[in-house]
Amino acid sequence: MNALIALTPGDGIGPEVVAEARRTLEAIGDRFQHQFKFTEHLLGGCAIDAHGTALPADTLAGCRAADAILLGAVGGPKWDDPQAKVRPEQGLLAIRKELGLYANLRPVCPHPALAKLSPLKPERVAGVDIMVIRELTGGLYFGTPKGREQTPEGERAVDTMVYTEGEIRRIVRLAFEIATKRRKLVTSVDKANVLETSRLWRKVAIEVGREFPGVKLEHQLVDSCAMRLITHASQFDVIVTENMFGDILTDEAAVLAGSLGLLPSASLGEGRRGLYEPIHGSAPDIAGKGMANPTGTILSAALLLRHSLGLEAEARCIEAAVACALDDGEFTADLGAVRPLSTTQMGDAIRERLDPARRVPTGSRSLD
Ligand code: NAD
Repeated sequence: MNALIALTPGDGIGPEVVAEARRTLEAIGDRFQHQFKFTEHLLGGCAIDAHGTALPADTLAGCRAADAILLGAVGGPKWDDPQAKVRPEQGLLAIRKELGLYANLRPVCPHPALAKLSPLKPERVAGVDIMVIRELTGGLYFGTPKGREQTPEGERAVDTMVYTEGEIRRIVRLAFEIATKRRKLVTSVDKANVLETSRLWRKVAIEVGREFPGVKLEHQLVDSCAMRLITHASQFDVIVTENMFGDILTDEAAVLAGSLGLLPSASLGEGRRGLYEPIHGSAPDIAGKGMANPTGTILSAALLLRHSLGLEAEARCIEAAVACALDDGEFTADLGAVRPLSTTQMGDAIRERLDPARRVPTGSRSLD
């Protein structure tokens, strides 16, 4: 296969972790005989410094031309002035909007060797393997009217939650399609006892569910879902929900894994082109020190292979290599290692294990 991958390393640790993901994709290309070409573009704070805008036109053009985009992270104290007219995260929101990326996927599958890092008891984390799917372009964050006004009683603020049937249908359908390849359970999360948008969400979810007789659909109110994620997370397979509920639940689910440095994400739209990024930010406190964990970005590259390039075996090869490296006790500083690996050493440890012959089972070693 020939594929063009746009890299937007961004700010802080972004360039460090994206470099490891690129090397891993190159190694996969060699192993499976694919031609991956890469282009590199400015996005976020570095783009503001160079061009005065967080999403320069040539970055957008480069991303449109590519089969997939791999992003590091954007932002940092240098661009944090709340009065600033241009902000790094505008670049991220703009690129999602320009590319019509309406679905955010976050797999959460805590590794047994890292169970001690989770704030939950190991028995509550055992067996957790969830795909959380968040609607990304509708709901409260984008609905109008939105704003603040002075009234005789003081200031008044309004946000509006809006969803159309079409917006709900496409994301719920995606959740069902993904569930068919997993454990065939979709949990649709809403607040149908209070919100009209949620009642429409539930109606559409039921209609879509009829198209997938092999997949079980359950409905859960967002407040009880938040509790169940802590008490019985292993009962979930695919969770699908609207933008704001998803914003909150994805972060809650991420905590189960124990470290921000481990988790990947994908943002998908109508076509195959998607944007892939680790869930963490630019970690300015450790930027430039060579200690960032590249695993979340490397696993994002695996999602890129699966969802944008249709290369399932190659994606699984990376995921198996990561699991094996963690099994073998290859840990960066954020994973509590006594003698932590650097960013590059962690990338090397994963790449060495792309070869199944190098994945010698050592038995799962946990953190001591
Ligand atoms: P953060 O995720 O950058 O860092 C939180 C903590 O986790 C820090 O202690 C950091 O050192 C650690 N950490 C994060 N990723 C790590 C990794 N790969 N390896 C090891 N340790 C890691 O969150 P923050 O500090 O709240 O935000 C920093 C900046 O990142 C802010 O400007 C924020 O706006 C931005 N941000 C960007 C994105 C994005 O680009 N998608 C997401 C979140 C935050």
